[in-house]
Amino acid sequence: PARIRDAVVLPRWIRVNTLVASVEKVIEMFTKLGYRVDSETEPSQLSGKVFRQDKHIPELVMLPSNVDLHDNPLLLDGSIIIQDKASCFPAYILNPPKDSTVIDACAAPGNKTSHLSAIMGNTGKIFAFDMDKRRLGTLKKMTGRARCTNIEPIHGSFLDIDVNDERYRNVEYILLDPSCSGSGIVGRMDHLLDQDKESVEDEADQAASETRIAALADFQKKAILHAMKFPHVKKVVYSTCSKHRQENEDVVQHVLTAQEDFSLADGVFPQWTRRGLPLFSGAEKVIRTEPKEDSCIGFFVALFERQTELINENH
Ligand code: SAM
Repeated sequence: PARIRDAVVLPRWIRVNTLVASVEKVIEMFTKLGYRVDSETEPSQLSGKVFRQDKHIPELVMLPSNVDLHDNPLLLDGSIIIQDKASCFPAYILNPPKDSTVIDACAAPGNKTSHLSAIMGNTGKIFAFDMDKRRLGTLKKMTGRARCTNIEPIHGSFLDIDVNDERYRNVEYILLDPSCSGSGIVGRMDHLLDQDKESVEDEADQAASETRIAALADFQKKAILHAMKFPHVKKVVYSTCSKHRQENEDVVQHVLTAQEDFSLADGVFPQWTRRGLPLFSGAEKVIRTEPKEDSCIGFFVALFERQTELINENH
């Protein structure tokens, strides 16, 4: 029989898309649809028409795991986006200001791109790269529904982008959420048939293979170092939905020693207490999540910040 590894029931998280609706408006609409606040029940045990606002990220709302949103008017009109809590951390932590120029390096299907867009209030510019044409098509559809108007989707490999291209001259912020093993993704197996569970298990085993992880880590390191080469970039946020140190702390440690311009930012999301595994000095500056305790997928986020002053070319 299939052994269900990490079968954690996660609540359903939705992010209020502030380009379309306010948190107050969405809560009012849910209330009209018969939902009520439940702040007591264990997140995994929530059921029925209940919700709860998140205590870390104000535009996030928690709903029961089995909530049916398929015909929810707020989802259909782009007021809300289904997005796991941890997956909201990178854009929230990067926090690009209005009118800035941003790259989302591995962007599809675009959940973090539309989050960046909302944080920027549809101002400035986001270049959204993805190598996979079909997934980039999904990004266009999703960011269109979310009414983002400051995104330019570009099909191609981020690694092939010329960092000295005039178009990217003003890029100061980069969000890098590259392909990873996905070993932090848990839960939702409760809806699968036994035979499907077994095949998910097989895939998970394959995902965990050492050679695959090493190849992913190699790409992840290259991508971060490439991001750091854009002449005016100030902040690079790196994230994975992996629980393996090889794709997380080890990647960060490699990048810190491979270049001299960037270091880990201080004071990142201080209210979040689960930090990096203590594998190197400064690991407490990065963030981890733990599905069972944090009610979200297993995730990792690091924020790199340029140390050296950029020379203002106008002087
Ligand atoms: N950030 C996305 C979101 O929040 O919706 C999820 C990104 S997913 C984890 C990783 C993406 O990286 C995939 O869509 C994959 O096609 C893309 N990718 C992989 N290698 C790439 C490369 N060299 N350049 C650009 N995109 C790449």
